[in-house]
Amino acid sequence: MVTEARTRWTNWGGTYSCSPTRIESPTSEEEIVAIVRAAAERGEHVKVIGSGHSFSDIGCTDGCLIRLDRYNKVLDVDRDAATMTAQAGITILELSDALAHFGLAMENMGDVGYQTISGAISTATHGTGERFRNLSSQVVALSVVLAHGDVLRCSPDLDPEAFKAAQVSLGAFGVLSTVTLRCVPAYNIHSVQEPRRIDELLDQFDELCKQNDHFEFFWFPHTEWAQAITNTRTEEAPPANLRRTGFGAYVNDILLENHAFGMIQRAAQVRRTWIPGLAAITARTMSRKEMTDRSDRIFANTRLVRFAEMEYAVPRSQLIAAVRDIRAMIERKRLLISFPVEVRAVAADDIPLSPAYARDTGYIAVHVYHRFEYEPYFREVEAIMNAHEGRPHWGKLHFQTAATLRPRYPLWDRFIAVRDRLDPGRVFGNAYLERVLGPST
Ligand SMILES: Cc1cc2nc3c(=O)[nH]c(=O)nc-3n(C[C@H](O)[C@H](O)[C@H](O)COP(=O)(O)OP(=O)(O)OC[C@H]3O[C@@H](n4cnc5c(N)ncnc54)[C@H](O)[C@@H]3O)c2cc1C
Repeated sequence: MVTEARTRWTNWGGTYSCSPTRIESPTSEEEIVAIVRAAAERGEHVKVIGSGHSFSDIGCTDGCLIRLDRYNKVLDVDRDAATMTAQAGITILELSDALAHFGLAMENMGDVGYQTISGAISTATHGTGERFRNLSSQVVALSVVLAHGDVLRCSPDLDPEAFKAAQVSLGAFGVLSTVTLRCVPAYNIHSVQEPRRIDELLDQFDELCKQNDHFEFFWFPHTEWAQAITNTRTEEAPPANLRRTGFGAYVNDILLENHAFGMIQRAAQVRRTWIPGLAAITARTMSRKEMTDRSDRIFANTRLVRFAEMEYAVPRSQLIAAVRDIRAMIERKRLLISFPVEVRAVAADDIPLSPAYARDTGYIAVHVYHRFEYEPYFREVEAIMNAHEGRPHWGKLHFQTAATLRPRYPLWDRFIAVRDRLDPGRVFGNAYLERVLGPST
């Protein structure tokens, strides 16, 4: 175990930082138990941080911060049952690589793989695909170190009430120690990215989601253009010239989407009024790309340009209207937006605090370059999302409180009851949880 004295911690997007009393890096469950017990005895709050890829202050603490980057091993793989159990600090990239050795893969992923599995499930991280649910739905068992050092093991058969709530827990119950995932046989993805007119995509979105395993698009404000991404699952081996890992992929992904995009953002910083012109240049440089590779290599992109993000889940039936409202609002308010709007679809699930609980869901994500202020834009977008029954992504920026969130989640009170049972003293509380789950009584 490594203990660091008080140091400042900042998240990936640079949107939040905090000064914990200490940062602990355990290597075993026993060490996690000892850290939690000692912190509770000192009367300190405890928070775990994964890869710090949440944009909100959900992982911040003025108490003891536990980092799990040395607690990241695969513990068990059951090929017949297609399950894998890992220590909670393993990243999705590490986990996917380990699964590939056993001919397995995650059923679906988000668009990067830097997150830890525990951080990803704690905030209901998702990918796209109307037949696929979020990553938390792939969890079949969990162990959680509770406030006094007891270890809760839960699954659909073992304390099912706690299990369902813990599938998306916002880090509110304790330290997730081990995570067991249901996996699928390894598969490749054939990916086509191409510029398309936004009006066409909005008109055809439902059809495109139905016809394709994983469909999404990025619309560039101030232009008529979007980059559409169609990912199709296949067992066919990738032809050498269509692999993402080759030189062509480096030029496409790293140079065009990241370095060139970064230059455009820096130019926008010089003069904001250049943004519509720069957006037009970006739209013109988008081209058709096609590649086939192992699923995780296609899903997980590199993100070199930092940004702040808000994302909302709305009922699928309201998704396109909500995108049109954002488009109209940007024009009406004459906002200058240099980052694209991302639109995805996922299947309904049965997890109490999942934004996709009990409804097929469309996700809309808005971003700003990390050096620009996000609040005016995000508040306008949030007002639109409120009108469309939106539920915010827990790891991204939003301005909701327990009072505005509770009516949006039918099983809210059951989640709070599990929290009261597992962490009555709010050892795992912080300012974010006070705000979104309600003040401790
Ligand atoms: C570039 C980028 C791309 C992204 N792409 C997507 C995407 O495609 N889809 C999507 O849905 N989201 C996406 N996100 C958001 C991201 O997936 C979530 O914010 C996720 O929670 C980050 O994981 P993390 O390991 O960094 O967790 P952190 O941000 O470090 O922590 C998140 C929360 O989980 C808690 N936590 C972490 N580990 C544990 C544990 N072991 N026990 C208890 N609590 C724990 C923390 O306390 C905190 O409350 C993206 C973020 C970035 C920066």
